[in-house]
Amino acid sequence: MLELNKQQTLSFHSELYNFIPQNHLLIRIHQLIDFSFILEFVGEQYNLFYGRRAKDPEMLFRLIFIQKLYNLSDERVIEETKVNLAYKWFIGLNPEDPLPDSSLLSLFRVHKIGAGEVENLLTEVVKQCVEKGLVKSSAILVDATHSYSKHEASKPLQVLKQAANRLQRAVKKHNSKLLKQLPKMPEFEGETRDKEKQALAYLADLGDTVEQLLPDAEGSLRSRLEETKKIVSDERLLTWKGVQSAIDPDARFGWKSATTSFFGYKESIAMTEDGIITAMKVEPGNASDSKAFPDLIKQTAETGLVVNEVLADKAYGSFTNLKLLAKENIIPTIRLNEMMLYGHQDEQREKFVYHKDSESVECPGGHHSIRKAKMGRKNGNECQRLTFFFDVEKCKACPLQKGCYNTGSDSKTYSVPIVPDFKQKAVEYHESESFKLRYRMRYKIEQKNHELKNHHGLAISQYSRGLLGMRIQAVLTAIAVNAKRMVKLANPKVAR
Ligand code: SF4
Repeated sequence: MLELNKQQTLSFHSELYNFIPQNHLLIRIHQLIDFSFILEFVGEQYNLFYGRRAKDPEMLFRLIFIQKLYNLSDERVIEETKVNLAYKWFIGLNPEDPLPDSSLLSLFRVHKIGAGEVENLLTEVVKQCVEKGLVKSSAILVDATHSYSKHEASKPLQVLKQAANRLQRAVKKHNSKLLKQLPKMPEFEGETRDKEKQALAYLADLGDTVEQLLPDAEGSLRSRLEETKKIVSDERLLTWKGVQSAIDPDARFGWKSATTSFFGYKESIAMTEDGIITAMKVEPGNASDSKAFPDLIKQTAETGLVVNEVLADKAYGSFTNLKLLAKENIIPTIRLNEMMLYGHQDEQREKFVYHKDSESVECPGGHHSIRKAKMGRKNGNECQRLTFFFDVEKCKACPLQKGCYNTGSDSKTYSVPIVPDFKQKAVEYHESESFKLRYRMRYKIEQKNHELKNHHGLAISQYSRGLLGMRIQAVLTAIAVNAKRMVKLANPKVAR
């Protein structure tokens, strides 16, 4: 049953709120953002009429918002709100009203916010920003940043032992009498690889046993069982490329530069040129930057913003992304990667000469192709190819066949990509002066990444629950940073 603050009346002590300066950041944010969207977002998670009285979701969301805005822990935000008039006013309580226990914040985040598509919360805030006309730019900047996992990476044997201990502890907490029925962890023997295999078999057995004993397990025990399944079914675990922490099984190693790696998560971000984050996609640290791009464009479109230009570095300059932008009539101010600029050229391929007039290709042996055909799907995600076929009988007798023709093969072909119009245009734009001028604007998103990580705690994961926890943290952080920016855009003279 929900307990809504809107039904509360102001007490005698609420006169104290008159002492809050009218230009306080939280008052400005309250004037700009209607947080009631959270009621619809989490509504399904509550029974409106029965059960224990639940704390108002908007009040809890506003508390979490303050937490992200001022980078406070769950405990600290409750302590600070007890004595800070502006905080208490912002969450809709009277000065003398009690605050919920800090543990409720974590439960609200995971079980209420985490039950929905958390990215939709960001979309709702950006929609309000667009509707108020605060976004003037129709260009978005795309980039990725990273967050370290708060847990360390371990080798597979440690991960397996740690997962087994965690599952046993959860069973003990649930029903200590059942511990005797669980298989005991044996001494693993032999080389490291043998020990890993034995530990994997033991963990699988332990997970199956717990599942049989407690098929209806819920809460933390269910979480441990899910964690165990994830680890046991990870095909890359023993190659050291899969799960590397039993506590944070979604975190992965990614690259910050050609020589520096990190263990954690990657956040792909789209931001308007005037500094509003329109989309965010959080993935394990080893995710590809380029593949997140279509989701960022789609998420941005859902805010109602009409985008006519995208600025991004060469991690995003793939064929698929350029094709998507061409379809949407969006200018690609994207640094093109070498593959896009030069294709798959090598010395051997350059020895084949195209003759425009005969529409044939002459091979290093001086023979012309005998026929040609277009290969690949016209609307696929790769260039179609024009393939030239050579007379294989000539290849069989050719002195240059080494590196050119595989003995015994039934055919000898040479293919060139058919460059589509949009790629040709992208390459021409890439070489222009206007591209260079616009591309310089990318620094703005690097400043935003710095703000997210260094002022609002996104540099390191703060919540448990792996990828879900990181998605919640990143989206809430983006909302707090957007709120600050909205105040600035609405009142250009107000300091951040
Ligand atoms: S192997 Fe065939 S294609 Fe290659 S150079 Fe000789 S004749 Fe030409």
